[in-house]
Amino acid sequence: GNFVPPIRSNGGNNGNMTTRVAGKSDDAVDDSTRRCLEMLCGPDGELPEKLRNLEPRLIEHVSNEIMDRDPNVRWDDIAGLEHAKKCVTEMVIWPLLRPDIFKGCRSPGRGLLLFGPPGTGKTMIGKAIAGEAKATFFYISASSLTSKWIGEGEKLVRALFGVASCRQPAVIFVDEIDSLLSQRKSEGEHESSRRLKTQFLIEMEGFDSGNEQILLIGATNRPQELDEAARRRLTKRLYIPLPSSEARAWIVRNLLEKDGLFKLSKEEIDTICNLTEGYSGSDMKNLVKDASMGPLREALKQGIEITKLRKEDMRPVTLEDFEKALQEVRPSVSMSELGTYDEWNKQFGSLS
Ligand code: ADP
Repeated sequence: GNFVPPIRSNGGNNGNMTTRVAGKSDDAVDDSTRRCLEMLCGPDGELPEKLRNLEPRLIEHVSNEIMDRDPNVRWDDIAGLEHAKKCVTEMVIWPLLRPDIFKGCRSPGRGLLLFGPPGTGKTMIGKAIAGEAKATFFYISASSLTSKWIGEGEKLVRALFGVASCRQPAVIFVDEIDSLLSQRKSEGEHESSRRLKTQFLIEMEGFDSGNEQILLIGATNRPQELDEAARRRLTKRLYIPLPSSEARAWIVRNLLEKDGLFKLSKEEIDTICNLTEGYSGSDMKNLVKDASMGPLREALKQGIEITKLRKEDMRPVTLEDFEKALQEVRPSVSMSELGTYDEWNKQFGSLS
């Protein structure tokens, strides 16, 4: 009952919050946008400097669509990748948790690149970092900036970094970062994408030199496309490879156990691992999904109606289900691509 809204309600015409946001009058800002702006106001009821002059709808888009309030991934959900987990803990999580210790010589890099084949857990790592460091997580796909936000990408980038700086500590995860920071094409690079890239680098420069607790994580399947400027800013570059045999076993066990469907013997799991050399984490997930349909399909074949089917009517998932699923779910990464990652890792990756 005692709540005083920091923004004047509709109709106020003498100096109010939203008139300072990209010159919009209060009437032009609807309730949901207003609520969103209210949440970003400081204790004085004013919008932080960085957010003034930005379009309210972009601030709202960042807050509602790009900001993930509950990334909900922990280290324990990620199979394997011990090297990456160790590096990330030292480089990112500790500094976010203890900024007082990590300054001066120990001041952390603000840019991290995760590269490797698709579906190997790069996004999961980004989310886990935010979860473990109790930071706000922002996820954006760079290709959406260049395709969906044509002409507005720069403004959205400003809004993104602006909201992140109000939500520190923050982790900004940029998927497919190569499409934003690719090597300058000698011809045909559009003016708008060049401006977008410049804006992005300016924003990165801004928080890199300041005391802000913002970490930028770029993810890419095509590290060789990144230019020198991008490599310079993404100081730590971690290879996220395909899962090892143990990691694949872990994924199978973990997914089936979650649903109470795990009844495979050690030998059967070993066989599945031998048959899935070259599968990514996401391929493994698809394989488990397909295999777990086996018992259901079989029960229905025996004439039980789907509406009458009880969980007890279904047998556990077997090795045969996996063997059938292997015909459907093929590995999505070709062996020839892997060589490129290895080479780039040797040249530019953080090996220890
Ligand atoms: P990337 O960002 O590397 O393309 P994601 O992190 O989006 O891949 O992974 C896609 C899905 O694949 C995840 O949601 C998860 O189910 C599964 N997955 C991939 N790698 C792993 C892993 N190392 N451990 C557990 N699950 C994984």
